[in-house]
Amino acid sequence: MSFNKKIALVTGGSRGIGFGVAKALYEQGAYVIITARDFTKVKEAAKSIDPTGTKVIPKAVDVRNFESVKKLIGEIESEYEALHYLVNNAGITGPHQVGISDYSIEDWQQIMDTNINGTFYMMKYALPLIERNAGGSVVNLSSANGFVGIAGIAPYTATKHAIIGLTKSVALEYAQRNVRINAIAPGYVATENIKSLPTEIQQWMALQHPMQRLASVSEVVNTILFLLSPSSSFTTGSVYVVDGGYLAQ
Ligand code: NDP
Repeated sequence: MSFNKKIALVTGGSRGIGFGVAKALYEQGAYVIITARDFTKVKEAAKSIDPTGTKVIPKAVDVRNFESVKKLIGEIESEYEALHYLVNNAGITGPHQVGISDYSIEDWQQIMDTNINGTFYMMKYALPLIERNAGGSVVNLSSANGFVGIAGIAPYTATKHAIIGLTKSVALEYAQRNVRINAIAPGYVATENIKSLPTEIQQWMALQHPMQRLASVSEVVNTILFLLSPSSSFTTGSVYVVDGGYLAQ
């Protein structure tokens, strides 16, 4: 799986899964543009992967803002003349254990804007550039909760279901245009955020999976890299589940 000299864009690359994807792509030779809202954090993340500052490029972009997304893609086109890979990873969960009647309109809108509108804006502006440059591949972050509901985080599960529908439809539009679009559906992943939760909550999360543990970031990253790479050249419109058996129950 060599990504030598390819150009990749990873949203939400300052920590967690996005950071892991950016690091792995860099290690396999790609130029990687990583984005997040907090420029200080995304700059630190880029520097920690590539101290030379030449192959991992941080950008402050809020995926909820379509004008910023459009500007970012314009910058990538003028600076690199190409884009081959896009990972729509930026996402938020929102408040937990809140019933739908108590969910605030503001929280609902933030979750929709980030998870689903952000993924739409990115694909809307990036796909023409990917197509113009001999094609490529996109991976969208859904979740095991893109298949099943979970009480108390209805807006999150709604967006993760929506990402699957969006992925399938856009994959069909691009099936003969040399751009593959897939999604990934992880169970609970041992990111810094999850590892900072109380031990009882981490244990509860681990026990939801029949494998009785959390996914490592690298287990999720490996599947994303497989879906980006030519190793999955006949795969489009699919959703790869990485959930320790959760959905098999
Ligand atoms: P983290 O919370 O660790 O990181 C999220 C990243 O997204 C950060 O870089 C954050 O930076 C960025 N981000 C958040 N909001 C925006 C925004 N509006 N615009 C641009 N960037 C934004 O997330 P994880 O690594 O845990 O999760 C990554 C993806 O994987 C998400 O889509 C999540 O739903 C999905 N997922 C995660 C699972 C898990 O167990 N961790 C399980 C299943 C799916 P900043 O705040 O500076 O903007």
